[in-house]
Amino acid sequence: MGEQGPDGSNKKRKTDERVAPVTPAAPVAKTARQTAKTAAKKIAAKKTAVKGTTARGTAAKKTAAKETAKPPANESRTALVRRARRINRELAEVYPYAHPELDFDNPFQLLVATVLSAQTTDLRVNQTTPALFSKYPTPEDLAAANPEEVEEILRPCGFFRAKTRSVIGLSKALTEDFGGQVPGRLEDLVKLPGVGRKTAFVVLGNAFGRPGITVDTHFQRLVRRWQWTAETDPDKIEAAVGALFPKSDWTELSHHVIWHGRRICHARKPACGACPIAPLCPAYGEGETDPEKAAKLLKYEKGGFPGQRLKPPQAYLDAGGKPAPPLGAG
Ligand code: SF4
Repeated sequence: MGEQGPDGSNKKRKTDERVAPVTPAAPVAKTARQTAKTAAKKIAAKKTAVKGTTARGTAAKKTAAKETAKPPANESRTALVRRARRINRELAEVYPYAHPELDFDNPFQLLVATVLSAQTTDLRVNQTTPALFSKYPTPEDLAAANPEEVEEILRPCGFFRAKTRSVIGLSKALTEDFGGQVPGRLEDLVKLPGVGRKTAFVVLGNAFGRPGITVDTHFQRLVRRWQWTAETDPDKIEAAVGALFPKSDWTELSHHVIWHGRRICHARKPACGACPIAPLCPAYGEGETDPEKAAKLLKYEKGGFPGQRLKPPQAYLDAGGKPAPPLGAG
């Protein structure tokens, strides 16, 4: 996704920019899947060894990030980087207008909406926030709110008491420490109650146009399926994946991965037979491979698939029913 407008709104800037094609990555061999576990164990062992050292500073962090992103034994780091970037380009073609699916008009609204989105859907948050922001349009208003009245509004989002405490608490902090403005720096954002790195990067990337990787549950699942990293800790995943891409790609990449996780590569039943990046995915076959059955697993929003150019599932398979070359290959 492109940078947001100066008003911080989430109206997406249309772009037809295309990245120059690279040599298509070779289909991921079955052996890659077989050796993944071994590679992951080796990485874990190396990381344990590294833990005990006294390495400090930026150089050490960069080395650690490369280490955690180490590819399967039969895939060089160069090949991993190339495959990862190719997946991102393919997803950019499928989801050209991927954007944060929370509605917001300014950084404050995005910050609050992101905090509310924990353990619930963006749709539910979008149904709830209009009433909240209509009654409490500024941090000062929400900081001075009666908690019981806020709880009533937030009840549909689940965990409404904790979320009420969070949004009132962060509004007080914004009012008292930041002059009623959402700060545009990571180190300030993570000091706000209920705001972690994930929330901070959502706000930085989409309300301030500053690159950030959003490691939510979809992102974690997909990058492990793609063997971009074997890490499980969100901060380490962020570092490992960030090392595979230029910083300028981070925000867009996050949207592409999350959109793909929500629509096709689901947690329990990924629709592999309808997946446009199947030829690049080591986990192809983890879900339904039959095109007709896979098509039924796709998650469509009401009124279609906004911002998505998804072809019929058969378009991604060759005559023998195997994954065809990805979009734009050749
Ligand atoms: S091929 Fe299957 S596991 Fe791989 S990204 Fe597509 S849906 Fe997910």
